[in-house]
Amino acid sequence: MRMGPFKLVVHFDGHATNEDITFWVLFIFCLLALLASSFYFWVYPRLCPPAPPPGVPDTVRERIVSFMFETSATLRHHEDQCAICLDEFVEGTSLLSLPPCGHTFHSDCIGEYMSGATICPKCRENIT
Ligand SMILES: [Zn+2]
Ligand SMILES: [Zn+2]
Repeated sequence: MRMGPFKLVVHFDGHATNEDITFWVLFIFCLLALLASSFYFWVYPRLCPPAPPPGVPDTVRERIVSFMFETSATLRHHEDQCAICLDEFVEGTSLLSLPPCGHTFHSDCIGEYMSGATICPKCRENIT
C-alpha cells in the first residue's frame, strides 16, 4: 500500500482527473517549499552559526576582581611589570589577575585588551 505523492503514479494510467493532478502538483510544490524553507531557516543557521562577539563576555569580566599592587611577591607569577604596556607596577596601581593562569596586568590595559580578545596575552590561556 502506497501513500502520499506515489498515488499520482497510480492515477496517471488513464483515469486521473484534472483536480487530482492539480492537487498533487500543489501538494508536492508545498512540500518542496516547506523543505526549502525549513532548510533555510533551521538547517542553514546551524551549519553557519553567527560569529560570537569578539572579546571576553561581560559575565566573565565581572568575576575578575581588581586589586591594588603592593609587591610583586604577592602575585602568583611575581610579575613587576605589565606585559601589555611594559610599564612597571607601582604601589597602589589597580591590577587584574586572569582566573585561569593568574597572570597580572594593569586593570585598564587588560580591560581594553579583553574587549577584543579572549586569551591571556602572556600565555594564551583561554580567559572565558
Ligand atoms: Zn599596562
Ligand atoms: Zn596567562
